[in-house]
Amino acid sequence: MFSLRHAGFAAVLALSLAACGKSDAPKPQAAAAPQKPAAAPAESGDSVARLAAAANIDGDRIKNADASPGDWLAHGRTYGEQRYSPLSDINRDTVKNLGVAWEFRTNTIRGLESTPIVSDGIMFVTGSWSKVWALDAKTGRQLWFYDPNVPGQWGRYACCDVVNRGVAVWKGAVYVGTLDGRLVKLDARTGRPIWDISTIDRERPYTITGAPRIVKGLVLIGNGGGEYGTRGYLTAYDADTGRQVWRFFVVPGDPKQPPEDKAMAIAMKTWSTGGTNHKWWEQGGGGNVWDSMAYDPDLDLLYIGTGNGSSWNRNLRSPGGGDNLFLSSIVALKPETGEMVWYYQTTPGDDWDYTATQHIILADLKIDGVLRHVLLQAPKNGFFYVIDRETGQLISAKPYTTITWAKGVDMKTGKPIENPGVRYAAKPSIQIPGPIGAHNWQPMAFNPQTGLVYIPVIDGNFIYAQHPHLDYKPGAWNVSDFAQLGEMIQAGIAKGQIPPPAKGYIRAWDPVAQKMVWQVEMAGGWNSGMLTTAGGLVFGGGSDGIFAAYDAKDGNKLWSIDLKTGMSAPAITYTVDGEQYIAIAAAFGGSGGLGATSDPNTALKKYGNNEGRIFAFKIGGTKTVQAMPSEAPAMSSPPPNEKVDPKLAQKGLVIFHQNCAVCHGVLLMSSGEVPDLRASSPEVWGQYDAIVLGGALSDAGMASFKDILTADDVKAIRAYTLQQAQALYASQHPAGGTTHAP
Ligand code: CA
Repeated sequence: MFSLRHAGFAAVLALSLAACGKSDAPKPQAAAAPQKPAAAPAESGDSVARLAAAANIDGDRIKNADASPGDWLAHGRTYGEQRYSPLSDINRDTVKNLGVAWEFRTNTIRGLESTPIVSDGIMFVTGSWSKVWALDAKTGRQLWFYDPNVPGQWGRYACCDVVNRGVAVWKGAVYVGTLDGRLVKLDARTGRPIWDISTIDRERPYTITGAPRIVKGLVLIGNGGGEYGTRGYLTAYDADTGRQVWRFFVVPGDPKQPPEDKAMAIAMKTWSTGGTNHKWWEQGGGGNVWDSMAYDPDLDLLYIGTGNGSSWNRNLRSPGGGDNLFLSSIVALKPETGEMVWYYQTTPGDDWDYTATQHIILADLKIDGVLRHVLLQAPKNGFFYVIDRETGQLISAKPYTTITWAKGVDMKTGKPIENPGVRYAAKPSIQIPGPIGAHNWQPMAFNPQTGLVYIPVIDGNFIYAQHPHLDYKPGAWNVSDFAQLGEMIQAGIAKGQIPPPAKGYIRAWDPVAQKMVWQVEMAGGWNSGMLTTAGGLVFGGGSDGIFAAYDAKDGNKLWSIDLKTGMSAPAITYTVDGEQYIAIAAAFGGSGGLGATSDPNTALKKYGNNEGRIFAFKIGGTKTVQAMPSEAPAMSSPPPNEKVDPKLAQKGLVIFHQNCAVCHGVLLMSSGEVPDLRASSPEVWGQYDAIVLGGALSDAGMASFKDILTADDVKAIRAYTLQQAQALYASQHPAGGTTHAP
């Protein structure tokens, strides 16, 4: 039906698989430097006063965001999260003169996904490992820095890189959710913590990567962890005190206990205990609220998007079937109590990691002559949904890209019409989209002038396969059967089908007509989020390091610059002293960054360096962009000349893909963001036990796996990596090299 060359299953596998046992292996100079203080205080009284003024944000100001168009006060600029700015000094005519005003280097090498908050000329922005900076938005000068000191070991629980999507700023304070599940309130004047609370069960592999939102004095924060076994929820904390006010669970807990609330009573009926030992309430169930939220102040409704099942395979968590509410759903809650008002499930009985955590936009659209208050979402499953945000009623749903898993959405039931064979209990099933989704977390943007939604679309596929014995392994990736998958991939490679990378597009979508108006093909599959402005522009960046402005009406490219660093974060815009700026955090990363293993066009592959950089642009900006010096290891010395047992290596392939591939790359093809194990030094080859079990490199970010891997497992992983290293070395050094290469 479609060829594997179409989308690249290995890339997509990695795109989706991500779980890093790894952290930001620090840059050498950073590793040698002493531990930074938790907060570097602002140095002058003048800065302190400016910082205090900048953080003077509350619900009224966010509701009336258009009254201060030069600020970016909340995650999506407004509570409706349109990511549209009324600023227009930078426009179709002037954009050609856009240039770099300043650049700030974060001294991190993992992904940046942050949306900065900008107010009164101050920028509050986050980086990898949940670090926070306050910068002068006019110059890029650092005013303070806060490092929550997330333990490197926690990186192992981060399915999709050690990223962070931003802070919330409210009444003199800055709020950040940390990778290890804490919510920290910082004094906006100094960056010093006011309180620091845990939002999770610390025995479970929860993470926080999303930005908090603040509604009516409540800080709202969810979490990730669906790939490893967690129960998803959203919690509201008092912004003053950090006291927990309410918690909304997405999936039910132990069926022997009474459900926590009415929503859980509804949900419980849609899960099955079946006749096996596959118990969702022990595995966690999933549904993690790891990114999207929006708020309608008029209806006083909070909207959240929920994640995939944990495990992915429904037969492993709810063996008798069922819709498994509220997985992959949009849920409307009362913000003061967390009480559920309505829900809409995009993917009932999720089997494919089709989350509905993708960006939610609130807009008012004229549909069939009537002005409707709608909610827009393009979740992973490939359908673009227009939903009445007061009632949850489905207005329309159409595929915004190629999909194979469903024919359409039944407008009577609101459910997708699945194609035969998409559930993969009987045999492996290749589907578009894959777990990376047709659209991932990168925010889309809605421009009320054009009426179009700009979506960063991904075109990729995946082989879903069920383990023959329905094995469930706590703490590992219970996402597909890697033995079958590895065989299929290797068989493909043997036939010369090297899996190509996924493809990516900026697609302008008419949400009323439910059709594409224009699209731009990007160099790679994993690209930045979107910004659109009243200047008639759309801004987006690519994995290749090109950041560009397009005409919002027709997609004409009007301006571009090579930042020599890949992007996935969305751009924002603001003004200081009457001048308009565009800003974007650049550093490739996230699940797609770690997984872009077979894409030779990434800036990371080209320049061998992924140091985080925040760029600001203005009309007439004149700074030039330098490539960072390459840090990519070359395979200069041969791997150990040992004979590898192919059976052991095959066993290692499976263990590797369950535990390591997410960071180190599918088939060991690292994206370059973390070390390529095939190019390991002789010291590393000699210390596998000490590193993988003993945690010898945990400070550099390589976590210990001694709780889930045995010495025999490590032996098998080493056999696999060595076998592949020998093969690669032999291919690069045909005249010499090792004699045991397969
Ligand atoms: Ca997932």
